[in-house]
Parts: sequence; C-alpha cells; structure tokens
Amino acid sequence: MCKVYTKVLRFSSGRRFQVINITPQVEQVVHDSGIKEGLVHIFVPHATAAVITNEYEPRIVSDYIEWIMRNVPPDYGWRHNEIDNNAHAHIASALIGPSRTFPIHNNEIVRGTWQEIMLLELDGPRSLRRVIVEVIGE
Ligand code: ZN
Repeated sequence: MCKVYTKVLRFSSGRRFQVINITPQVEQVVHDSGIKEGLVHIFVPHATAAVITNEYEPRIVSDYIEWIMRNVPPDYGWRHNEIDNNAHAHIASALIGPSRTFPIHNNEIVRGTWQEIMLLELDGPRSLRRVIVEVIGE
C-alpha cells in the first residue's frame, strides 16, 4: 500500500548568495516517514532559490556561487532588473531547478558519498525559505 508523507522545512538565509546543507533535516523526514522503499522529492516553492545535490565542501561551495555569478551576472542589464533587482536569481532558479528526487532503500536516502542535498539561496537574505519534502512509497 503506497503511502505519502509530507513535511515542510523552514530555513532562513543571511546573505544574497548562500548554500545551505539541508541533508540532515531531509534524512530526518525520511526516517520519520517510516517509508522503507520509494522516493523522496525535495521541492522549493520559490522563484529565486534552487535545490542541488553534490559535494558540500567550502571551496566547491564557493565555486557553485562563482559559476552562477559568471554565467548569470547580477549586474548585467537584465530587463527584469528594471522592476525588481533579482533577474539573475530567477534565471538561475529556472535553469538549475527547484527540486531533486532520490530513491529510498531500507528507509535511507540512496545517494553517493559526496552527494549532499543543498538549498541554494539566490536572492537573500530571506527570513523564510520553505522546502517541501514529500516521501512516497511503502
Ligand atoms: Zn524578481
């Protein structure tokens, strides 16, 4: 019998760009769900944030931000900046994506050793960033 368990996690950011490791909180939700086999879907309901999975190491964390700044420079003459100074954040969110999905086996998230789950703040600081964690399976 398939079950769905949903939890909304809340985070705040302190800078314009920030990489927040949310792996422990997501793992806790999976454990609490009691679901042994299935999927976990992690989704941010925000247009200026994103979810990624990869290594959480200080240098590569800086490099993620560096890549975004080089590819979607905040100070470029984006048209959206005429009304709201955050076009770079919308574009990066659109391209990187607001979600990631992982398999679950034996009530554990299946992921590589260097695959942490991270929330990307692209237009902070924000007092409330929600992350919807939906666990589906049995
Ligand atoms: Zn905007």
